[in-house]
Amino acid sequence: MSKANLLKMHEDIKLTTMENGYQGWVKVGQYIIWAKEYAASAPALTVLEKIDKGVVVFNEETEYLVHRIPAGTPVHITNLFGFWHTSDADRIWICAKYPHSKYHMIISGGNFGVNTVSIVSWFCPKCGHELARFEDKNPDEGPDFWDVAAEHVNTFNNSAEMRTCGPCGHVHPQAYPFVHDEDREPAERW
Ligand SMILES: [Zn+2]
Repeated sequence: MSKANLLKMHEDIKLTTMENGYQGWVKVGQYIIWAKEYAASAPALTVLEKIDKGVVVFNEETEYLVHRIPAGTPVHITNLFGFWHTSDADRIWICAKYPHSKYHMIISGGNFGVNTVSIVSWFCPKCGHELARFEDKNPDEGPDFWDVAAEHVNTFNNSAEMRTCGPCGHVHPQAYPFVHDEDREPAERW
């Protein structure tokens, strides 16, 4: 996808999103798509992927980044959602920088029967131990998982026991749900 095509698609997604009230997510065929334009000075949205050996970081230093997040890989995007999210769908992460703004997009899907399983989890920032894991199934392939995730964030925040790492004793900071509203201050602290 060229940068010019991306801008056109971004505009289309924005209009469709406003019509269906999905707050940033829209369902298009086999995909669910999220898109947002930020000021150039907005906090960085950095993709962190959890693999067996640790965490891989994909930052937005490049002018135009198109990155595939494979299905089954836990991913955390700083300042966008405060948990690790695993999907049964492949996802494409797009970042395009312009002089006064930057565009981000997540395209999730590409197959029939995906976007039906969602896992929300947290790992100890110190030793990597899994602290909590919530798995949900939704046969409707909708973007509703992000609302369900907000409930898991509440459960996690309200349980000091869940946030305290058994092996090392480190306490995970409070988490935050998917940040739909760009005026809301993201609470990234980890
Ligand atoms: Zn730990």
